[in-house]
Amino acid sequence: MNGHTEDPDLMGLQMSQGSFQQLWETIMTPQGPNIAPTESENWDDLDATLLPESTLDDGFERLFELTDQPVAEPFVTPADNVPPTASTVPSTVDYPGEHGFQLRFQKSGTAKSVTSTFSAQLNKLYCQLAKTCPVEVLMLNEPPPGAILRATAIYKKSEHVSEVVRRCPHHQSAPEYNEGVNHRSHLIRVEGSQRVQYLEDENTKRQSVVLPYEPPQLGSEVTTVLLNFMCNSSCMGGMNRRPILTILTLETAEGQVLGRRCFEVRVCACPGRDRKSEEENAAKSLNGTKTASGTKRKSTPLPGTSKKTKNVSSTEDEDKDGVFLLPVRGRERYEWLKKINDSLELMDHVPPADQEKYKKKCSAISIRKGAVIPKSGKRLVTKEDKSDSD
Ligand SMILES: [Zn+2]
Repeated sequence: MNGHTEDPDLMGLQMSQGSFQQLWETIMTPQGPNIAPTESENWDDLDATLLPESTLDDGFERLFELTDQPVAEPFVTPADNVPPTASTVPSTVDYPGEHGFQLRFQKSGTAKSVTSTFSAQLNKLYCQLAKTCPVEVLMLNEPPPGAILRATAIYKKSEHVSEVVRRCPHHQSAPEYNEGVNHRSHLIRVEGSQRVQYLEDENTKRQSVVLPYEPPQLGSEVTTVLLNFMCNSSCMGGMNRRPILTILTLETAEGQVLGRRCFEVRVCACPGRDRKSEEENAAKSLNGTKTASGTKRKSTPLPGTSKKTKNVSSTEDEDKDGVFLLPVRGRERYEWLKKINDSLELMDHVPPADQEKYKKKCSAISIRKGAVIPKSGKRLVTKEDKSDSD
């Protein structure tokens, strides 16, 4: 800036608050300070130079046309040329309704041989392709006569949810399980009922299977529905490793929803094994985020906590000195929370008397940034930054 201060006009400008903007314009506009336009005029000029042959409005319209194209393309499947699917995404909110609609799954465990098993912990069904998955439907009171049950599959992740779940081309054309079947593209089938209907919504193209609700048989409190999933989750050209949810709805004969239940489904070769490992992983990450359990801390002592070898393993102690992990989404938020945590750590290292001194100093004079941070604190921050990048 020193290079420009020879100009007496500029020197004057620097003295006031608004001077920086003027100074900037002086430097940046070739015309000099005298023709500095107002803000709105400035934008007009800018657009005119960028789009010399069009008005401002034309330019904007064209801009939107251009940005629209790449966004729209991935959602249109040129092959079957159907209108964009899923203008309405089926709800996945559990809703027992006035009939207390509930699902229950048989306890099949995680043995190697199991063909279908449900994890209550993950609300997830694990099953083998085309194997029977009994789902028990439970209700507090009888739904109106003519009520139906409907099963629909949708993709779990929002980036896939607009796409309709169908079987992969291989399994649709394979001879097994398809003999005399008109609903080859349907992922979900219902076994053991003659009154099952396979439907495809005209508008959304979503497929569902519908069967009349039958009250529990004498002496039983549940109605069992037998579901089959006709592709593996990994099927190329089908689910393609994308997780799905199955929505089971109780509806009136007219299609009004009376209750809804939703669960995740993974169709795989080893349901027992996969359930076990996914439950273990979930438990691990839960332990990591919630609290540092005694065993965990022993196996991975964190700096500053390892010195505590006294056998005082009280929960109070852990509440006070335990290291708690918090997964944070997004770097910006993480940096904010880290800053707060760093400040609290810093406070622990500064004696209360000194803290008071700093507070008094801060309120007395406006101190430039960095002046109050003690050296020890700075060292702490850089140390952690290093370990983060490792
Ligand atoms: Zn398949």
